[in-house]
Amino acid sequence: MILNVAVIGSGFGGLGTAIRLKDAGIGNFVLFERASDLGGTWRDNTYPGCRCDVASDLYSFSFEPNPRWSNTFSYQPEIWAYLQDVAAKNDLRKLIKFNHDVTDVSFDSPSKLWILTTSQGVFQARNVVLAAGGLAEARMPDIEGIDSFAGPIMHTARWDESVGLAGKRVGVIGTGASAIQTVPQIAPVVASLEVFQRTPSWILPHLGHQVSERSKRLFSAMPLAQKLVRSLGYWRRELMVLGFVKDPSKMTKGETLAREHLARQVHDSQLRERMTPHYRLGCKRVLISNDYYPAFSRENVALVTEPIERIERWGIRTTDGALHEFDLLIAATGFYVTDNPACEMVHGAKGEKLVEAFRGDMANYKGTMFPDFPNLFMLGGPNTALGHSSIIFMHESQLNYIVKAVKVALERDARIEPTIDAARKWTEELQQKLPGSVWGTGCSSWYLNAHGKNTTIWPDFTFKFRQETRHFDPKDHEISV
Ligand code: NAP
Repeated sequence: MILNVAVIGSGFGGLGTAIRLKDAGIGNFVLFERASDLGGTWRDNTYPGCRCDVASDLYSFSFEPNPRWSNTFSYQPEIWAYLQDVAAKNDLRKLIKFNHDVTDVSFDSPSKLWILTTSQGVFQARNVVLAAGGLAEARMPDIEGIDSFAGPIMHTARWDESVGLAGKRVGVIGTGASAIQTVPQIAPVVASLEVFQRTPSWILPHLGHQVSERSKRLFSAMPLAQKLVRSLGYWRRELMVLGFVKDPSKMTKGETLAREHLARQVHDSQLRERMTPHYRLGCKRVLISNDYYPAFSRENVALVTEPIERIERWGIRTTDGALHEFDLLIAATGFYVTDNPACEMVHGAKGEKLVEAFRGDMANYKGTMFPDFPNLFMLGGPNTALGHSSIIFMHESQLNYIVKAVKVALERDARIEPTIDAARKWTEELQQKLPGSVWGTGCSSWYLNAHGKNTTIWPDFTFKFRQETRHFDPKDHEISV
């Protein structure tokens, strides 16, 4: 059977796609999921303390509000449960092919079909929505000797519950969003904890709090009230674009707040200095936490800023010659983003790989379509991630366009791809906004590809992206029947 649409992934992106396809009356589609359950990154990241740093009313589908979030910024179990509920309510499970690891997606020009090779057979589809997630492939650190370590090494996104922490000497590599959430949680359990920091992060106070039963009742009885809260949060975040994109010098206000937060929580001036970033706030992802800095006032927690030289059988050797001995290493070292393996496996009409789009060598159209990749749509494609707001908003914008394009493709049995001119125009105009933004102020981050080009972040207000993706514009596409 030839599928109308093959959706790859069953996280926020895949489930959102399924709901929107159903709403549009498009049937005969399947979600391919490599794991045995749905949920994507919110299924995989089970490390202690895992939590979303975007408020839950915004970090959820606009068409599936949840009036019962227990915290304004939810923890992973609740977000995963939300996705399970959304899937149940919309009867999506039966559309998901679990344990189907997609290993190759290639366009066959003569038949105008995409051929998907999976761990459980080959499938054909007229359209493909790649919703494999930008933060799905855990990146282990590229440190000499990593394979020689005698104990376990766990990546935060591949947490193994069976590895006990109690009484262990633990080393954490990295001080990004994942590390700062897990360090305070595991510190009281382990015998000792050393945190290896390569670059300090800017950390702002966390404003999350429990949601009262009264608010939950109000949101259940009057969905408009929750919509209003969501809207206020949305516009407050949009204001940040003024600093992030238009005038990065405005970020100094935030830097002052972050420095004050650090000063309040870390009283040792030397430690404070080592934890103070020396790049513009926002250049790397801005973090929020109230319990990360205080973890370092515990006797059993230490910060290591001496660079790592190599990993040895018994621990980590730093460049000052010291050997830091451990029973367990935790790699909080992020993900393959600009070199996402999900894009390595996709081959277009001329055989080229989709990953070139992130290497900066290929133009893209609205972060969603690519010339020579007909009828293939990518959620979270180039320059659609955000430093200031919710990726779900961006997904929903992309889906407005995707559903319309898929409808045209199916109704006319057409091969659709953006014209090279439209794709170049989009890509070039977008790239012109980046050098003057906060991400161009000079720091290394996972927003940049190997050539230092930002192929990750959307450099504008998100409502502009919403406008851009509202319609399917035939004149920007080659439509061949
Ligand atoms: P990350 O932000 O990429 O941080 C990786 C950390 O590991 C950095 O501190 C990095 O140092 C360090 N590192 C990497 N390789 C290293 C090496 N070879 N030697 C020493 N240090 C090394 O990864 P993450 O913390 O997993 O977060 C990734 C993204 O996931 C976040 O930015 C966010 O978008 C998402 N996330 C979100 C939440 C949330 O609350 N919503 C929670 C977790 C993750 P450098 O800075 O020097 O490169």
